[in-house]
Amino acid sequence: MSAAPVLSVEDLAVHFATPKGPARAVDGVTFALEPGQRLGLVGESGSGKSTTVLALMRMIRPPGRIARGHVRLGDVDMLAASPSEVRQSRFSRIALVPQGAMNALNPVLSVAAQIDDLLLAHGSAEAKTARRARIDALLDGVGLKAETGDLFPHQLSGGMKQRVCIAMAVALSPSVILADEPTSALDVIVQKQVLRTLIGVQKRLGAGVILIGHDMALMAQFAHVVGVMYAGQLVEIGPTKALFADPRHPYTRMLIASLPSFERRFTFRGIPGLPPSLVDRPEGCPFHPRCPRADARCRVETPAEQTLADGRRVRCHYATEVG
Ligand code: SF4
Repeated sequence: MSAAPVLSVEDLAVHFATPKGPARAVDGVTFALEPGQRLGLVGESGSGKSTTVLALMRMIRPPGRIARGHVRLGDVDMLAASPSEVRQSRFSRIALVPQGAMNALNPVLSVAAQIDDLLLAHGSAEAKTARRARIDALLDGVGLKAETGDLFPHQLSGGMKQRVCIAMAVALSPSVILADEPTSALDVIVQKQVLRTLIGVQKRLGAGVILIGHDMALMAQFAHVVGVMYAGQLVEIGPTKALFADPRHPYTRMLIASLPSFERRFTFRGIPGLPPSLVDRPEGCPFHPRCPRADARCRVETPAEQTLADGRRVRCHYATEVG
């Protein structure tokens, strides 16, 4: 039997007002995250991954708004909670490791001062020396020496900054960690080290993690469950192994086929075409203009989500088709 989810998201929708009408950036996303589970959300730019994560933190700003849905974080209904409950939940229940560590850190405060501010803002009653010991332990937990606390952001490498962001994200032991492309600006070796650090702290806390990215190879290594987003919708979600071994949505198939392999090392297979406009989505299946399997039905009938025998959920009329 699986554990009670630390996070459950149901029919989440985020719209942005535009002169041409609402842009449906997130459109009916549903998933659950168990304690200790690592979920990877993949998709092209503009597919709704980052907006989903911001909505979970209640950080959507106008002209955006959460149009419908439910987000439950343990026993807290995040979409109905008061602004002060939401503020308290950030870091203590749900925390974000941001995409650009450079911009996330305050350039005029030392690392220790920034973590200390966070502890104080969340009501730490410990004495200064006890808080500093806690900060040193947090830094140690992400592979940084205690002296790093005395440095300023400009004195840190990209990888060190990202580790500081992880230390801050886990400072109050959240049950859910959101990581929005945390390694995108780093070289491959540092990327791996940062991901290992993230996995290490996640395991220690027993937290659930959502990793946002577009790198399927990275997801294959990191995630227990992978969700593929297209045009604001989760078009396929399921256990990583099953999804990679037998992708059921044509878009997932194309994402996996576009991965470089030893046999195809000199031929790059991209996905032809562009994602659709979120204001004026094509009728029928939003993927049909790019889909090699599309037929007349796909151009007029929007596919409902199907649950397959292995628990995978797919939005494609032909998800159970062999081949
Ligand atoms: Fe392709 Fe049709 Fe499936 Fe959409 S419903 S992914 S167009 S086969």
